[in-house]
Formats: sequence, C-alpha cells, structure tokens
Amino acid sequence: MSIDEARLTGTEDPLSAERAYELYWAELLGDAPRFTCAGTGCSAPLTCACLTKPEQTLLIRPYFRSHRLDDHAPTCEVVHGRGEAKPARGADVFEAERPAGHFRAPAAAPARRATPAGGGTHATRPRPSHYYRLSSLVQKFLEHRRDKDLAEAPVTIGGETTTYEALFRNVYRQKVADHLQTRAVWWGTASLRATKDGGYYLRFTRPFRHGDELLKPTITLTAKDVDAYPVRKLLRARLDKLIAEHEGYCVVFAWAKPWMPKDAEKPFVRFYIDNLDHIDVRSPEILEELKNTSRITPA
Ligand SMILES: [Zn+2]
Repeated sequence: MSIDEARLTGTEDPLSAERAYELYWAELLGDAPRFTCAGTGCSAPLTCACLTKPEQTLLIRPYFRSHRLDDHAPTCEVVHGRGEAKPARGADVFEAERPAGHFRAPAAAPARRATPAGGGTHATRPRPSHYYRLSSLVQKFLEHRRDKDLAEAPVTIGGETTTYEALFRNVYRQKVADHLQTRAVWWGTASLRATKDGGYYLRFTRPFRHGDELLKPTITLTAKDVDAYPVRKLLRARLDKLIAEHEGYCVVFAWAKPWMPKDAEKPFVRFYIDNLDHIDVRSPEILEELKNTSRITPA
C-alpha cells in the first residue's frame, strides 16, 4: 500500500515522500532514516521506497509503504476509513524560492500539544501540494501525460495558475522570437557532458526556429553553482549516471525564458538557470515509458 505522508521517527510534523527524498539527498536524514505512520495515535513503522535511488521514472518514485496492516493503531485514519472520498485537491503549487532555513532536518517532537477544542485532524483538510524542486513537478507532468489529463490538471507557478499542458512546452520547431518573454517549463531531448571545471553543459538535440535557421538551445551549469546547491549530491549522481549509462543522451526540463543576444552576428539561444531547483534532467527511458503506457490506455 502506498502512503503519502509519514513522520521521521521521533519528530512531529508529517512530511511527504518527495520531501523525505530531497532531505535525504541533502544529507540531512543520515544513511538509514526511520519513518513512522502519521495517523492518529499510530506508530506503525513505514519504509520510504526508492529513497536511495538517484533516478526517477514513472515506476521509480519515492513513496511510503507499510510492512503489515496489523502494525497500525485502530484509530489510524491513514489505513482505516479508506474508501471515504478524499478531500478535493487544489492546484499543485510550485514555489520559485524556498523559504529560509528550508534545508534543516525535521525538529524533534516537543511535548504533545493539546488538541484544540473541536479541531479536526490535519488529514481532513484539503491541502494543495507545494513543490520547490522542478523534478517533483516533472513527476506530476509525466503522470498526467500518462493519464491523458494534462489539459485539466491545474498548477500554480510564479503566482499564476495554469494547466500542466500550457506550462510544459517542447522547444521543437517553435519560433524562438515569439517566446523570448515566455517563462515556461521548456523541455526536450538533449546531450549532456561534464565540463573540465566540474560543471555540466547541455545542448538540446532539437532546435527552435529563427528565420531560416534552426537553433539548438544550450544550458551551462557552473561548478560553483552546483557546489552551492543543497541537493548537489542528487544532481551530480543523476547527471553522472546519465553520462555513464546513456553517453549523456537525456531529457531536460528547465523553467526559464529562452534568451538570444540582440545583435550577435551568429544568433544562438540559451536558457539561463539562476536556481538549480529549476532544472530537471532525466534518462531517455521516460520517453519509452510514456510511449508504452499510452499504448495500453484505451483510446
Ligand atoms: Zn497508521
């Protein structure tokens, strides 16, 4: 059984599996963190699946799972009282900046707070999902694409609510001049290589159009930026694995505007990534996976 939230054992606030995953890779949870069910009065031990895997696909993604149903307390609403309608979810929210002090291990549980009179549990309140790493949003994009509901699935980004379909744009053959003000999640297949100074260089394999020219956009990740990024261990593990296993062939997603120099003799297009939370690079297997999942979906 897949469970959305759990407590780090000995702490109070529930955290999502995505959050546990990034804290683990920011080296804040130790080598073998333990998790407990967040249900009322429940202390069932949970495992976070795929926690230590650097890559993510439709099948490989972090989630909590339970060892035995009997471990849960009779009062636990996480496993009991399923089948009740889940509260409706609002749009997923992508925050462009993390709150200060976001990368801290969860605090140890203080003495139990008294439950406010008549207060419901956190589980009954509909809460939108907040994301800080583009990778979390890409995961949702892939799931919606598989489920063929991209056009209906809302997402709030940079303070504006749109749909996954409108937000994610493939660069292929789009007229770049029309999009110099379009901040979107631009994506496409790309080639990736490590640079001599310890950074990375990406070049899309398919181009934007500019007059008669076809321009393949590029992205540079400097060693300095990578080293200053709290989840650098995960970023480097993913990128190095793609170079080792796929000769750098990858699928890149970047939340950015395409940039062109004003009067260069030879035009070119770049994406500048000012925050490494705003780029996600995945293995080409996700393309295959999406093709396969759409084939078995009834028309
Ligand atoms: Zn439980």
